[in-house]
Amino acid sequence: MSDTSTRALHLLQTVFGYPAFRGQQADIVEHVSTGGDALVLMPTGGGKSLCYQIPALVRDGVGVVISPLIALMQDQVDALAEVGVRAAFLNSTQSYEEASRIERLVRTGQIDLVYVAPERLMTERCLNLFQDSKIALFAIDEAHCVSQWGHDFRPEYIKLSVLHEQFPDVPRIALTATADQQTRAEIVHRLQLEDALQFVSSFDRPNIRYQIVEKGNGRKQLLDFITGEHGGDSGIVYCLSRKKVEETAEFLNENGVRALAYHAGMEHTKRAANQARFLREENIVMVATIAFGMGIDKPDVRFVCHLDLPKSIEGYYQETGRAGRDGLPASAWMAYGLQDVVLQRRMIDESEADETFKRVLGMKLDAMLGLCETLSCRRVRLLDYFGEPAAPCGNCDTCLIPPVSFDGTVPVQKLLSAVYRVDQRFAAGHVIEVLRGVETERIKTWHHDTLSVFGIGADRSEQEWRAILRQVIALGLVTVDHEQYSSLKLTDAARPVLKGGQKVQLRQYQKPVKQKRPTTAS
Ligand code: ADP
Ligand code: ZN
Repeated sequence: MSDTSTRALHLLQTVFGYPAFRGQQADIVEHVSTGGDALVLMPTGGGKSLCYQIPALVRDGVGVVISPLIALMQDQVDALAEVGVRAAFLNSTQSYEEASRIERLVRTGQIDLVYVAPERLMTERCLNLFQDSKIALFAIDEAHCVSQWGHDFRPEYIKLSVLHEQFPDVPRIALTATADQQTRAEIVHRLQLEDALQFVSSFDRPNIRYQIVEKGNGRKQLLDFITGEHGGDSGIVYCLSRKKVEETAEFLNENGVRALAYHAGMEHTKRAANQARFLREENIVMVATIAFGMGIDKPDVRFVCHLDLPKSIEGYYQETGRAGRDGLPASAWMAYGLQDVVLQRRMIDESEADETFKRVLGMKLDAMLGLCETLSCRRVRLLDYFGEPAAPCGNCDTCLIPPVSFDGTVPVQKLLSAVYRVDQRFAAGHVIEVLRGVETERIKTWHHDTLSVFGIGADRSEQEWRAILRQVIALGLVTVDHEQYSSLKLTDAARPVLKGGQKVQLRQYQKPVKQKRPTTAS
């Protein structure tokens, strides 16, 4: 063992009280302690903090931790103080006097670690301070914030490339729990970490059981899931809109599930109070938008639910990753339906983004849809997205109850023909009525009851047709034109299916069933 590793292990045991390093921690600590740059990709709960805390203690000088999570700096500093590490933070919440005092400690080397927000670091005052001080290392936490495509983008992170330019001799370690190839490449490029060694841990969270169900009455399904499988547990429920957050929290409370709300539109003190209660209490559910969660460390979150489709697999992975940080069994549950696909595609179409950006967002959404529609193991699909090979897990819905698939070529052809026959000018509801042969006023007005496709899909329920249409949209055969009353339009990809030749395999529609907690006989 090298001198450095001996010292590092000694610090781990005597200061932090752990017997041994976990996973790649030892290699990372050794590499950074000896002056190397590193990019660390490790799932939430994997133990990223020690990867920079220990090298900061091994090396001379002050370790600078750049973190966007101002609200959590106090907690981090307190936790370090408890084990005798001299730590402090510099951010906008403190007084001028307090900041000056910390700056003096940094300058005179009387401190081991200092946390700063990126916007603070970029000030001339702060950069000068670090120029005048002995710096052990720079740790860039939540490094995915540099990614413009991700949902945590922080413009100040882009400027962090100055670290390399102004402090070429100080090692840098960037850390994140988000690890798709594109984000990784972006971190390397934007932070100029081309020469950094990459440490990629397994992203598998074996204790999390993944479930994605067809959405009927989403709220009701959610309630059944919570009471059936997780009565008395703490969990998080993600919704897309603030309004839905409020409504869902209210609905759960009315039905005997203690729930709090959290979204960016709430008054700051209320939001902070709800967050504090969630962290402190047991048997409590937080209903939130994605504004909630980064840096939240509540080990006993037993379930994370999505009532709306996330925009990307990274988002889904990060959000579900907040379940089961204590390693005990936990659930990631999502209800997903036709409206989700339509809405997410629409949000991309209507966003202000330029074409390239929209294309990337579209690809990310497609990957997410692929995960929802997959007929094979969810975990295999999820890890594959992060470039990690895996075997079917036995702990996801598709492994436990393999979905039934069928050759959907004929019904899909019927659907595509119906879209075509109504001149691609009608929305989902109308097209499905035509297929099912429902004689509505509108159908009569437009003489759609005289079309050859009228009633050719009468053998399937409306729900079944919605499930087929959802998959057809997910597969990109049909798009929804939001400029024109949400009318359905065929894409070029529809032609080979319509003309015959290309087969389509579909997931069988499954009626929502009431979830039951596996109980022992009593
Ligand atoms: P991350 O930042 O990757 O989400 P943390 O650094 O917060 O993870 O660590 C998660 C938990 O694991 C913490 O409670 C931490 O104390 C614990 N931990 C980290 N490394 C070790 C280790 N080598 N041995 C035991 N526990 C560890
Ligand atoms: Zn599986």
